[in-house]
Amino acid sequence: MIKILKKYVKAKISTIYENHIASFYFKQQGFCPCCEQNVTFTSKHPWLRDYFKCSNCHSIPRERALMLTIKNEYPNWQALKIHESSPGNRGHSVLLRKKAKSYTETQYFPNEELGCIVNGIRCEDLEQQTFPDGQFDLVITSDVMEHIYEPDKAFQEIYRTLKQGGAHIFSVPIINKHNPTQRWAKKDKNGNPQFLFKPEWHSNPVSKKGSPVTMHWGYDIVDFIKTHTGAEVKIVYLDDLSHGIRAEYIEIIVMKKPALHGQA
Ligand SMILES: [Zn+2]
Repeated sequence: MIKILKKYVKAKISTIYENHIASFYFKQQGFCPCCEQNVTFTSKHPWLRDYFKCSNCHSIPRERALMLTIKNEYPNWQALKIHESSPGNRGHSVLLRKKAKSYTETQYFPNEELGCIVNGIRCEDLEQQTFPDGQFDLVITSDVMEHIYEPDKAFQEIYRTLKQGGAHIFSVPIINKHNPTQRWAKKDKNGNPQFLFKPEWHSNPVSKKGSPVTMHWGYDIVDFIKTHTGAEVKIVYLDDLSHGIRAEYIEIIVMKKPALHGQA
């Protein structure tokens, strides 16, 4: 009897949940920081992080949060020298590519030589970049830093390539929140991920296999970056429906290389 009851309750909950998803509809008028138009943001799914899209450019909340943070922190962004690692074809990447005076995009192609150009895109490994020191005003990454095997090296390398007063502005899911950061995977001797917990992969525009999740970051990412680079680090959390920004895990991190004395 209890077994049947349990089964019934489970089915009932599942139906309620499915109905909730099926009937979910969220709509908001606003200004999109990525396509710079007055648009409607809509979602037919309660998981706004992936489904709350701009009617014009189809950007998602973390992309709009990233672009708005770039604009707020560096209002002169269009005139700056920008490096974006692993950009996509949506959201902030499209606007940066279109409007920034100097925009360099890089991807990591495992079988190509570092520093070479592959189909117009420079091959770079964030952990060992071929760029000279002090090149960029801004380095941008969007949900990349949870896929890095040696994040200390990657942050140090990004810091090295920044000009004084420049910044790495990036989104990364801080899924551990107040719990400490956990390493989720390490690289085995053949270069494949060796997961320390349940394997997790995210989609990757340049790899069918996807990207292994290597880190579960907590808010202590701020201390991690400070310790390894000496940067000034802050977390920006935006909940701003007028710009279509509302979702879980959309914190933006600003890691700034301090300006020289007398510089702004
Ligand atoms: Zn848009």
